[in-house]
Amino acid sequence: MHYPTRHPLPTLEDRIVTHLSFSPATRSQLCEALDTSRTNLGRALTTLLDEGSVVPVRSNAPGRGRPTQLLTLNASAAHAVGLLVTRTSCAAVMLSRSGTVLASAHIVSPASPTLLGCLEQTCEALSASATSQGIDVSRVRAVGVGAPIPMGRHARVASDAYPSVEDVASVTGRWWQAVPVVDNTVRMAAFAEGLWGAGSGMSSFIYLRLSGGVGGCVVSDFRLVGGATGLAGELGHITVAGNDALCGCGKRGCVETLASVPALCERAGARDLRELRAAVHADDERALAALEGAARAIGYVLGSAALLINPKAIIVAGEIVDAFPQIKEDIAAHMRAELLPVMEWDIDVVAASLGPLGAAQGCAYIAAHPSGDEDADRERTPHRGGATASPGVGVRAGGEHS
Ligand SMILES: [Zn+2]
Repeated sequence: MHYPTRHPLPTLEDRIVTHLSFSPATRSQLCEALDTSRTNLGRALTTLLDEGSVVPVRSNAPGRGRPTQLLTLNASAAHAVGLLVTRTSCAAVMLSRSGTVLASAHIVSPASPTLLGCLEQTCEALSASATSQGIDVSRVRAVGVGAPIPMGRHARVASDAYPSVEDVASVTGRWWQAVPVVDNTVRMAAFAEGLWGAGSGMSSFIYLRLSGGVGGCVVSDFRLVGGATGLAGELGHITVAGNDALCGCGKRGCVETLASVPALCERAGARDLRELRAAVHADDERALAALEGAARAIGYVLGSAALLINPKAIIVAGEIVDAFPQIKEDIAAHMRAELLPVMEWDIDVVAASLGPLGAAQGCAYIAAHPSGDEDADRERTPHRGGATASPGVGVRAGGEHS
């Protein structure tokens, strides 16, 4: 999917919701305030009343003729759910129609060893949080899921090592009926950075996450680039010269074998990130060499990617960036060495500014805001019904919540 990373112009539904978030209003008042016809207002209100985001309140004024119907926001009704599952933590949010976070959950080190188990635990935690606050979850219209697997809309994964989109849908379906929009965790996090974080207002940037693996994503001309089959941005699996370590993807020499948390710890002779940090602070030569090797490899990959899309910035995220903030400068120096010296590039390397809950919010936003790419995507895929694109499952639920 090519999700737009710029806020779209508000629809009439959005404007009604914003207006009612300040105070209840009658239909006549809404028509006047929003400068729209009774017919258009009625159409937009039908959607909002059907989904339960707006509710009528009868205001009886004794002895003054017909009672007036006031419309108000149903502040406790959940509209969208966002779920973000990574190998090390999970986050979830539940949003109202106006985008307010009604409930959230954050699980560090989820108990289950499987992705679906982690997803289940996350759904359960979010549901419990919503129930304890008396939130009405019967009207959830949109569910977005970020999972650490290559499952862009048109991705065809040549492996059964990952759960399918149908598997994901069967888990979320036990809590919320809406067909989930599923995409890769890194892409969801990058999308959120583009909307509200370090990439806000930037037309083009590269997002790179250094965590259990190395995941990348490209935003070009305010669009999260998916490519022909949803797999664009797999920067972690670009081969780095002089490296023949076997990668989890089955290939040798990927940057992930130098710059993921497990790879970096192994090369530094540390059992975990805490030990690695202690070794680096103690100027341990092996640890410093491993960190420098990672920065050099990442800089090389980012330099090549930058030549391709000319980004405004590189946004780096993940536990390695959190543990060693100065790695940004090292990465930037190595990246600049790959760029053409005769041209002015002016590319900043900055840290991501949103946490996992922000990324989960991105999942909910994507699900609740179907983009105009639907028709184009339909044209591109005349043969629906493949392993990961069967009708009604695993694709954006545009018809479900419009
Ligand atoms: Zn690889």
